[in-house]
Order: sequence, then structure tokens, then C-alpha cells
Amino acid sequence: MKDLHKLPAHTLKVCRGAAQCPHAVLGTDLTAELEDVLIRSGWPEFLAGMTRPIRHHHQFRMAVASCPNGCSQPHIADFGLIAFARIGLESERCSGCGHCVSICAEKALHLEDGIHLDRSRCLGCAACARVCPEKALQVDETGYRVLLGGKLGRHPRLAHELGFYSLPESLDVLRKVLSVFMDHHRSGLRLGDLVEKLGRKEFDKLVRP
Ligand code: SF4
Ligand code: SF4
Ligand code: SF4
Repeated sequence: MKDLHKLPAHTLKVCRGAAQCPHAVLGTDLTAELEDVLIRSGWPEFLAGMTRPIRHHHQFRMAVASCPNGCSQPHIADFGLIAFARIGLESERCSGCGHCVSICAEKALHLEDGIHLDRSRCLGCAACARVCPEKALQVDETGYRVLLGGKLGRHPRLAHELGFYSLPESLDVLRKVLSVFMDHHRSGLRLGDLVEKLGRKEFDKLVRP
């Protein structure tokens, strides 16, 4: 039988985008960076001191997806990152071929007297920039959408989105999240419960970079 005492204080799911997925917006494996922040925060010792044995629902769950398809399930993790590409548009370069319109699963692009991008629909997958032969669509900036407080269990909660951040900013959010979580911790509390208790606005204020 598995020894529950040996469960680590966290889990980390990283999608295969870091290795070889053609959809990856950012194919960087963030395992070392995220675990470094978590270990320096003192979370493993903190949890071991609070909770024995550590069971699955005590673990702090992290997930990184290299594109909005979210294969590593960041929406049900305590801390999730989804790679995002900000698309730049130079409409004067557009030849009107329509490749980008066909490939965009979000219907964020349309051709009508030139190419138009509806940023409210765009999920930053960068597929359009990959197929544009004229470089009218290009990736201007990459970073991560930071998701917080997702969980399953008796009262499931989909993670809410804090915003779009660079990697250093995202790591700073993780640092703050762990600190706030430890300040308010009691055995069995999940981050999503704490967000609900403090109120999302109040919680977000505490953890923004
Ligand atoms: S989340 Fe995207 S990049 Fe990662 S494995 Fe899934 S499809 Fe590929
Ligand atoms: S990045 Fe391009 S293809 Fe992807 S959702 Fe945005 S507009 Fe559509
Ligand atoms: S793929 Fe590029 S050139 Fe073709 S319609 Fe889209 S923006 Fe214009």
C-alpha cells in the first residue's frame, strides 16, 4: 500500500508543449522556476507542520499549459498558467488571402475592407500569425494568463483569471499567493475556498505583481 506520509506538498502538471507540441505558444518547461518559488516560500515545511499525513486534497496544485487548449487542466489547479501571444496587426500588409480567418477557431478575425481582429475573442494561440504569408499578423509579445483557485472535490470551482503577465510577474504572483495562503491557512482549506472567503477582488489585490 502507498505510504500517504510520502506525498509531496505540491503537484505540477506541465503539458507536452514544452517538448514537441506544434500548438505551443511558449514551449518553455517552467518546472524548475515554479518549484524553486514554491520551495523558497517554505510551503513544504509549512504543510508538513500543519497536516499529517499529507493527502491529495492538501497538496498545492500547479499546472502549466503552453497554449489555450489547456491540456494540463490549469482551470482546476490552485495556480495555473496558460501561454498567451499578443497579436500585432499591420493591416496594410494584408493581401486578403483568408488563411487566418479559416484557422482562427475563435472567429476573432474577419475580412471586410481589410483584415480585422476582435481582441475580446482572441485567446492568443498564435495560429493566425503562423499561417499569414505576408506577416500582416505577428506575435508582438508573449506571456501567461494567470489562473487562480481552481479545484474539484465536493464544491468544484473553475479558476478565475487574474490577468496577462510576463514570466517574472507570474512567478511573483505565485510567491504572493503562497504567502497569503499560508497566512490564512487551516487544515483542508483549498485556495479556491480562500478566494471565496476573502472575495475575489480583495484576494486579487493581495496577489497582483
Ligand atoms: S496545451 Fe496546447 S501546447 Fe500543451 S499539449 Fe495541449 S495542445 Fe499542445
Ligand atoms: S491568436 Fe489568432 S488564431 Fe488565435 S485566437 Fe487570436 S486571432 Fe484567433
Ligand atoms: S493570413 Fe495574413 S494576408 Fe492572409 S488574410 Fe490573414 S492577415 Fe491577410
